[in-house]
Amino acid sequence: MRIHFLGTNGWFNTQTGNTACTLLELQDCYILLDAGGGLYKAYDIIKDDKPVYLLLSHLHMDHIEGLQILPLFNWRGGLTIITAGGNKKELENIMRPPFMPAPESLKTKTQILEVGAAKNLPFDFAALPLEHAAPTIGYRIEAGGKTLAYAVDTGVADNAVKLGRAADLLIAECSYLPGQSPDNNHLNPQQAAALAQEAGAKALALIHFKADDYNAMHLRDEALAAAGRIFEHTLAPYDGDILEI
Ligand SMILES: [Zn+2]
Ligand SMILES: [Zn+2]
Repeated sequence: MRIHFLGTNGWFNTQTGNTACTLLELQDCYILLDAGGGLYKAYDIIKDDKPVYLLLSHLHMDHIEGLQILPLFNWRGGLTIITAGGNKKELENIMRPPFMPAPESLKTKTQILEVGAAKNLPFDFAALPLEHAAPTIGYRIEAGGKTLAYAVDTGVADNAVKLGRAADLLIAECSYLPGQSPDNNHLNPQQAAALAQEAGAKALALIHFKADDYNAMHLRDEALAAAGRIFEHTLAPYDGDILEI
């Protein structure tokens, strides 16, 4: 499984990166995790006929702002957008004029499914609710003998541990600065590291660095160091980084 980190910022786009978007390249398909401002970078990567699945964590704008550039793509294998139960109507309300072209007008054949209706996919996945200000789900994806967990936009949550159990890679969020924890809507690096530790994950990748707090790259290095003292196999990828698991 090849992982492209297309957007590693949280909240808004700055010189440190775009908002959350991660692309998984699998044998039979592509999986996009969230559609933040980094989504446009998929244009240079997805060039073949494999189907594309976009798994949304929730509908906060920094995770869906990239949807407005869907007209750029002509993905011949089609696009299936998967969203949390109860979210489909709200997503359809955003994915229409005057906000953006409707799915049926896109070059790419596009459908929207809630998680419960997403069956017979070329990968196994589970979704569980997380702790956040809006209804948010995390994912556990199993494909090609590898397991990847995605817990982005969450506070401390038992379900994040369940999703990350013995995963080859846990992608977790790191909105807050080391030691900061103003609420349980997001994690700081130590909390993300403790999550990876408790889950028994093999590796941890931190993303969703809150753009106003992490306004320079060296602050990410400090987060990485703080997390690494608790969970050794921690990475803090930049936009454009590629990881193979
Ligand atoms: Zn966010
Ligand atoms: Zn959010």
